[in-house]
Amino acid sequence: MTERIAVVSGAARGIGAAVAQRLAADGMKVGVLDLNAEACAETVAAITGAGGQAVALGADVSDEAAVIAAVDELTATLGAPTVVVNNAGILRDNLIFKMSVDDWDAVMNVHLRGAFLLTRAAQAHMVAAGWGRIVNMSSTSALGNRGQVNYSTAKAGLQGFTKALAKELGKFGVTANAIAPGFIATDMTAATAARLGVSVEDFHASVAAQTPVQRVGTPADIAHTASFLVSEGAGFVSGQVIYVAGGPMD
Ligand code: NAP
Repeated sequence: MTERIAVVSGAARGIGAAVAQRLAADGMKVGVLDLNAEACAETVAAITGAGGQAVALGADVSDEAAVIAAVDELTATLGAPTVVVNNAGILRDNLIFKMSVDDWDAVMNVHLRGAFLLTRAAQAHMVAAGWGRIVNMSSTSALGNRGQVNYSTAKAGLQGFTKALAKELGKFGVTANAIAPGFIATDMTAATAARLGVSVEDFHASVAAQTPVQRVGTPADIAHTASFLVSEGAGFVSGQVIYVAGGPMD
């Protein structure tokens, strides 16, 4: 199999960490990117401990120079990335009448500007290789969610970004797809439970009761989907948004 190098953003924990570990288990070398390199140590250790290869990359995805430097560092250490998973994300939830401009801008910057910058930095390597895989982490919130006008807008924006990339880069052997997770148990959802004043257990139970498969999602559920989308055999799947939410979206 051709050697593949991947970069996964927001990979210090949660979904990103699970995706990074899964792609390494699939045989890829992985750039584990998060706000600072120290935070990536645990994910890198899990990968190398299992016999894989990974490097920690510290960068704020919304910082153009930092993203370019991180992709250059990955290229110099493990090789040029031809797989990008844009997963870094933040929440700044509030009802619109209470939402600050900073809360709006922060969410746009991490999700949209971040995905643009990392994809732009890596796509040159994909085009040169005549092969590439881009996966953008959207959300069921793209369909609209109370208290999340910023986040819903960014996650819907990532779907448009994905489809435009698919049309632009398809002729170079590059696919672009989005995963739209439903409720996935991570620190992010634990923070939401805390904000709502409910325990994590009660939060999970109420979400599971409303989900057709009667459980909440796990980072491994998303990693499995990402593994498929970046695989060699998925070259005819492009421009799609895959809802991984334990049931259909109405
Ligand atoms: P998480 O546990 O909060 O992990 C997100 C990671 O992204 C953290 O390590 C965070 O670093 C990092 N990050 C934040 N801002 C960054 C930046 N500017 N540059 C680089 N890294 C940055 O979240 P998660 O639940 O795993 O979510 C991962 C992705 O899935 C996000 O895009 C999220 O919106 C999406 N998603 C999650 C769910 C869910 O239910 N969990 C559902 C749908 C979509 P710090 O720890 O330093 O902040």
